[in-house]
Amino acid sequence: MNYTLPALPYAHNALEPHIDQMTMEIHHGKHHQAYVTNLNAALAKEPNFKADANVDTLIADLSKVPESIRTAVRNNAGGHANHTLFWNLLSPNGGGEPIGALGEAIQKTFGGLEGEKGLKALFKAASLGRFGSGWAWLIVKADKSLAVTSTPNQDSPLMHGIAEVTGKPVLALDVWEHAYYLKYQNRRPDYVDAFWKVVDWKKANELYTQAIR
Ligand code: MN
Repeated sequence: MNYTLPALPYAHNALEPHIDQMTMEIHHGKHHQAYVTNLNAALAKEPNFKADANVDTLIADLSKVPESIRTAVRNNAGGHANHTLFWNLLSPNGGGEPIGALGEAIQKTFGGLEGEKGLKALFKAASLGRFGSGWAWLIVKADKSLAVTSTPNQDSPLMHGIAEVTGKPVLALDVWEHAYYLKYQNRRPDYVDAFWKVVDWKKANELYTQAIR
């Protein structure tokens, strides 16, 4: 199995001014590419292991991966899966209010986006509470309820036996410094605020609808 870097679904400057062009060029072309390259290099060391073509399936059960390459696969397949999802959850036409069944579920679960217990406040707490590098998530748990969580490094809520809270991602935010440092420097909270200006609620609603099926 050889994984490949997917093209960005929009131009590198499409998310300006919220996420800047140079960050997107380096983040996609260098960081994400490196996860793909390093994942393929790890898998090449264990040619008898047949990795699933779907990277989400690969990371869901890392116990099947040979121990000699398991950490490399965890980090780099995690990085590949997380970034692929992340690009698709951003849009130059994003922002605004959540739509469809997801909008209703966010209203019911969190009382909406705003307020002390609102989704934005919980998501910000998850983003800022993740010390060092990692991700903030809105997920659908096995019981179909929504939850906000975070993971360290390139771990994913899809990783059974690894993630603190497992589930299917609906929203993902990369809070590694490489995702925001050029524009926001140490101001991670400002970057989290900017995320809501470019989040693709249509895509998030699709993921939610699939997850509750
Ligand atoms: Mn990243």
